[in-house]
Amino acid sequence: MKAGPRVSVFYHMYTDNLGEDFERMKEYVESLGFSFSPNWSRSICMEMSLKYLRENGYSRYHGETIKWFDDMPPLTDAYKNGIKRMIYLPQDYLEGKWGEFWLDECPMNGRIINIRWNGRLSLCSWTFDDRSSVSEYLTTPIEQLWEARRSSPICKECLANNCASYMNYFDMDGIDQAARNRLSPDLASNRKFFGDNETAAP
Ligand code: SF4
Repeated sequence: MKAGPRVSVFYHMYTDNLGEDFERMKEYVESLGFSFSPNWSRSICMEMSLKYLRENGYSRYHGETIKWFDDMPPLTDAYKNGIKRMIYLPQDYLEGKWGEFWLDECPMNGRIINIRWNGRLSLCSWTFDDRSSVSEYLTTPIEQLWEARRSSPICKECLANNCASYMNYFDMDGIDQAARNRLSPDLASNRKFFGDNETAAP
């Protein structure tokens, strides 16, 4: 079929890289024949995001928790400084129309598997601490992963806080609108979620 690899460069848009940096990176990526896919910056680590919601009084989870997760040290200044530059925040999906929304089960269940660098099954695309991993990929029936996503306290805390929707970019139009409201309605029209998702073979 003469199909070449498709390369797409994700550009995480923060409050301070929407100007010249954005234009220059777009130009560079496209000059290489790749596609340029901007998306609003967000807190991509599940453990940190849940911790951020807890520390800032947003969490609406009151169920069972895991000791190592409860004992994690407070968020670092690096994380706090990073989140100040982010546009799309974990609490966004606990407010407005999303405040009344709940998922009973993870939308990734039955669909997405992540294998960690060490061969273990990751609980989630967004959990990065090895202690949250499920088991060895090669010896674990896949149903065990789906069940872990139903029973893990991390998943329960995630679902109670709508983090599964946040991480999976539900409501892209709403995200663009929220970003524009937060920044400036005059933002250039190509500063939007996946503004150009065309992919080109090099
Ligand atoms: S429920 Fe949340 S933490 Fe669990 S797998 Fe889904 S997105 Fe990840």
